[in-house]
Amino acid sequence: MNLLVLLKQVPGTSNVKMDEKTGTMVRTDHENVINPLDENALAAALELKRSIDGSKVTVLSMGPPPASRALREAIAMGADEAHLLCHRGFAGSDTLATARALALAIEHVAGRRLGPNDLVLCGERATDGETGQVGPMISAMLDIAVATYVRGIEVKQDHVVVERVVEEGFERVRMPLPALVTVVKDINQPGFPTLPGKLAAKAAPVPLLTPDDLGLTRDTAGLTGSPTRVVQVFRPKFARDTVLRRQDSGGAAVGSLVDLLIEKEVI
Ligand SMILES: Cc1cc2nc3c(=O)[nH]c(=O)nc-3n(C[C@H](O)[C@H](O)[C@H](O)COP(=O)(O)OP(=O)(O)OC[C@H]3O[C@@H](n4cnc5c(N)ncnc54)[C@H](O)[C@@H]3O)c2cc1C
Repeated sequence: MNLLVLLKQVPGTSNVKMDEKTGTMVRTDHENVINPLDENALAAALELKRSIDGSKVTVLSMGPPPASRALREAIAMGADEAHLLCHRGFAGSDTLATARALALAIEHVAGRRLGPNDLVLCGERATDGETGQVGPMISAMLDIAVATYVRGIEVKQDHVVVERVVEEGFERVRMPLPALVTVVKDINQPGFPTLPGKLAAKAAPVPLLTPDDLGLTRDTAGLTGSPTRVVQVFRPKFARDTVLRRQDSGGAAVGSLVDLLIEKEVI
């Protein structure tokens, strides 16, 4: 089975800073890490690889040159092959341009349109952009089945059965292959790289893909190929509105507070 994992490098902090002038994310201040849910996607692919003979795990990422570190980490954990979409022509991509580039890269790397032997795995969302749009967009572009919020995957002969987390519990869905799943953290506990894995990762090639390789132009890649425009970026201002009410007794104070909450429509 051909297992393709999409892996994004994200800032290793929840305190992502934005450049207020350009409206872009400041990515240089932090050490970058693999998006945590993508580690779950990778672990799920590696588990399937162990259970299905002749399987191969390929990891793909779009990002600046340091993103190759994340791909090497994936090889150290057991992935067979890695490709990095890396070129200034990809810079400033919104979710649509990101999904378009990754969808084309998936077929480029597979060397064909996806078939019944292929499963694409993504995280449910990335901790920086956090839209959760990229996976479902890719499935639409590749015209393949999709399941989001997946916490369990069973590959059968020509289809896949997944368990999706929904508000009231979970649902089991049978999907034809090829398919794309976006996973949640409950799916597994990602493992650690092994020493032989780390050595293999050091020597492994990480080929770069450019917009040209994928047949993309200025109109379809990067900032110029992105319909989203960041008009303004700002921190919301929190202003405290302190109201002091003095009363002679505790009961009167509570009554006064309740009146105030009713007046403000809090209760
Ligand atoms: C309004 C807006 C403006 C933005 N402006 C900028 C900007 O100016 N500069 C900037 O750098 N970013 C910007 N971004 C973020 C950028 O669009 C996202 O980084 C990118 O499009 C992926 O979207 P996401 O992080 O929401 O991914 P999600 O949809 O949350 O990711 C889901 C999954 O898709 C896969 N995935 C997502 N991205 C990649 C990737 N690059 N490589 C491999 N797999 C991936 C992973 O498996 C991930 O778990 C902006 C986002 C928005 C919504």
